Amino acid sequence: MVKMATKTKLGLVFFPAFDWAIAPDHPEREERLLYTRDQIREEGLLDLPGIVEFRPQIATRQDIERVHICVPSVEKVCTESHLIAAGGTITAGELVVSGQTERAFALLRPPGHHALRIVHGSRGFCTINIEAVMVEYLRKLHNGRLRVAIVDTDAHHADGTQDIYYNDPDVLHISIHQDGRTLYPGTGAVDELGGPGAYGLTLNVPLPPGSGDAEVLYAVEHLVLPVLRDFQPDLIINAAGQDNHFTDPITNMKVTAQGYARLTELLAPDLVVLEGGYSIEGALPYVNVGIILALAGLDYTGVREPELPPGVQKDGRVHEAVVRNVAFLQEVWARRQEIDPAAVFGGGNYYRRKRHLYYDTDDIHEVQVEAIKMCAACSGYRELHSFAEDRRRKQARIAAVLLPWHACPACRQQAEEAFARLAAEPDWDDVYYQNPADPQRPLVSKAGRGES
Ligand SMILES: [Zn+2]
Ligand SMILES: [Zn+2]
Repeated sequence: MVKMATKTKLGLVFFPAFDWAIAPDHPEREERLLYTRDQIREEGLLDLPGIVEFRPQIATRQDIERVHICVPSVEKVCTESHLIAAGGTITAGELVVSGQTERAFALLRPPGHHALRIVHGSRGFCTINIEAVMVEYLRKLHNGRLRVAIVDTDAHHADGTQDIYYNDPDVLHISIHQDGRTLYPGTGAVDELGGPGAYGLTLNVPLPPGSGDAEVLYAVEHLVLPVLRDFQPDLIINAAGQDNHFTDPITNMKVTAQGYARLTELLAPDLVVLEGGYSIEGALPYVNVGIILALAGLDYTGVREPELPPGVQKDGRVHEAVVRNVAFLQEVWARRQEIDPAAVFGGGNYYRRKRHLYYDTDDIHEVQVEAIKMCAACSGYRELHSFAEDRRRKQARIAAVLLPWHACPACRQQAEEAFARLAAEPDWDDVYYQNPADPQRPLVSKAGRGES
């Protein structure tokens, strides 16, 4: 392979989604990115030789179905904007793995990190998990031989990404967020550590309201960086929500543009994907410029919000709860390989859990029952039963069988049998089968209702 002599340092992929909004006055709206674009132009960042803009592609149904089970279908839950946001994230991923650019930053919307494996509608402004769609696309390119770390620094817990990867041994997921007891979606406590096939590879650092640069940077330096050094991912992805900013209208945090830039410099991610951030004029343009400069290896110390009040950047003292949580997670990380899964998940053949999930954006309630095969040879196939009801009492009852990457032959066979059994049961609207590794059959096949 011939190595290029010079390579673009940073690729930017923009998509402001002009025609997608939850409501005209909703904080998740196109101006989120338009002010950022103006600021980037004003600073002349696109004139710098190392920074190049690329156009997003459109994700296909198959790209979405590598990750999600969309009920009733991808077409029914996604708009074109969702497909372009996911596709633009894929474009950013391709730039980096192909070596066309050293790093990439996808500045797009709608965001994705609250979208769970099963999608009945939208939660927390999210429908499609754009990071996961990219990760699965890239893993497919590498036949599943790709270790990925996702570090989510949005103020809200990345419950969707956690749900998708919580039993996946090749994807480390770390979320740093405002404590779930004080903010949507309420999850992300330190004891949520992953499923039996990937215990300790889900790490959550809840930060008390009022946390700022000192707290976020402490978590990165004392937990994230040492964990990344151990895990040795092929790719580090930063899901960069900017709603930790001190001006954000829907959270209670005190991070500054300098804090975000320093976080980016420390983390040195291959890819950054924009998530939330609703302080459209006061934060996003400055935070994004700081991140771009840090990614391009340029001096970011001059980036400053116009209204930076004195005292926001504190004296560097770190809230005691953060020190305690980080110490607990360091201990979990150090001991994760000695922990017997049976001691945590019980000694049976299956680990089962039942959850109530709420789609706040679409007002849908879901009850989900999950069984994971406790398998010594792979991370185990899964069977999901999902019952959802919207506010008009419209119901959906679906079942799904999921194979992991690198499923062992026994799990493969049992998954096939489970699918055949479920498909013969009359109570399901649809039964889905998802196997990310097998190109011989559709990623999602349906049964029930007499369809073949
Ligand atoms: Zn957020
Ligand atoms: Zn197995």
